[in-house]
Amino acid sequence: MHEVKRVTILGATGTIGKQTLDVIARHPDKFSVFALTANASADVLFEQCRQYLPRYAVLLDESAAESLRQQLLAAGSQTQVLWGISALEFVSAHPEVDVVMAAIVGAAGLKPAMAAAHAGKRILLANKETLVMSGGLFMNAVEQGGASLLPIDSEHNAIFQVMPEARTRHLGESGIRRILLTASGGPFRNTSAMDLEKVTPRQALNHPNWVMGPKITIDSATLMNKGLEVIEAHWLFNAGPEQIEVVVHPQSVIHSMVEYVDGSVLAQLGNPDMRTPIAFALGYPERLESGVPSLDFFTIGKFDFEAPDMVKFPCLRLAFDSLRTGGTAPAILNAANEVAVAAFLNERIGFTDIPRMIESALEQSDIQPASSLDSVIEADRQARLLANAWMDKH
Ligand code: NAD
Ligand code: MG
Repeated sequence: MHEVKRVTILGATGTIGKQTLDVIARHPDKFSVFALTANASADVLFEQCRQYLPRYAVLLDESAAESLRQQLLAAGSQTQVLWGISALEFVSAHPEVDVVMAAIVGAAGLKPAMAAAHAGKRILLANKETLVMSGGLFMNAVEQGGASLLPIDSEHNAIFQVMPEARTRHLGESGIRRILLTASGGPFRNTSAMDLEKVTPRQALNHPNWVMGPKITIDSATLMNKGLEVIEAHWLFNAGPEQIEVVVHPQSVIHSMVEYVDGSVLAQLGNPDMRTPIAFALGYPERLESGVPSLDFFTIGKFDFEAPDMVKFPCLRLAFDSLRTGGTAPAILNAANEVAVAAFLNERIGFTDIPRMIESALEQSDIQPASSLDSVIEADRQARLLANAWMDKH
């Protein structure tokens, strides 16, 4: 690693990307920005390039990249503009890069994260969809590429923080009985099943505790986010579905817990602010100032806990089921969910249609072993077709 770590941020214009830049800006002696990437937000990326002076700026979209190139040229910037998926892989695997923040949303994040794994980078993984789709392949790539993987998802980051230093690949050997994954319960925790039918995108986008991108905010409302996180925990910590328990904790202050065989339960607490896990992973093993204020216990007052309702929120059950099924089932779940969330946000389907559409895609799919990246990408493609076909029929 270089003295000053060079960082590529995939998804720099998103919620996680911006918070990563906020933490990096607090430590100019420790980090420099090598590359910033986005889908098509040329204007936001332009402002970020002006402030952080990356060597590369990458957009997925060609015409957005052309507009960014013109803007940067006019401003006399040295930043080079690239576009397309192979450019995303290029800045993830570049020999001069030390750290890759993988914060693209959805299946689109898979290939660049994989490139970082093969190239042996320190990967800060926010893009949980990569592990959901291809956890086995990705963990192998991390190991074979000599990469190191630090979870950014607040729950997994919490678990990582309270696991023993010398963690093994087997929970039992580390003295761990189970993982307690906390969940806020989302904005509809107390909404009746009947009222859930009529929920609007605007209501669903109003998360009680966290400010996040639209896709993960809807996932939090359906509890699919927790389902994806169960699968993520399975791959990160080698935990079976029976060793992962979801605990609804509406305050979102305990970010997750690990229970040991002696009955001890260790938890990580903090304000619900993603700059804590981001700073933890950037600095690891050193602790860095993140800008997150102290936790005020007297304002919080109390902690509540309840069991998740998998009947009212079938997405969580579907995720557990697809983890048990294995193979390409989680990739199908993920792809159908992406189609369903986009359709809900465009008001083409109702809130409670989201799990219906996913379940139908899973039932109609021919589940295969997830033996290669191609098989996973093909399962993703088929599931999107099935999900779209469901929409045409309903
Ligand atoms: P966001 O929607 O705010 O940002 C997404 C970023 O990805 C943007 O920069 C966008 O330009 C880029 N992007 C989108 N589609 C792309 C494509 N096809 N190709 C290349 N780039 C693309 O999302 P977010 O809330 O920052 O979440 C990012 C990831 O982090 C997600 O996987 C999410 O589940 C995970 N995560 C987010 C939070 C949070 O607090 N926001 C917490 C935990 C995990
Ligand atoms: Mg999370």
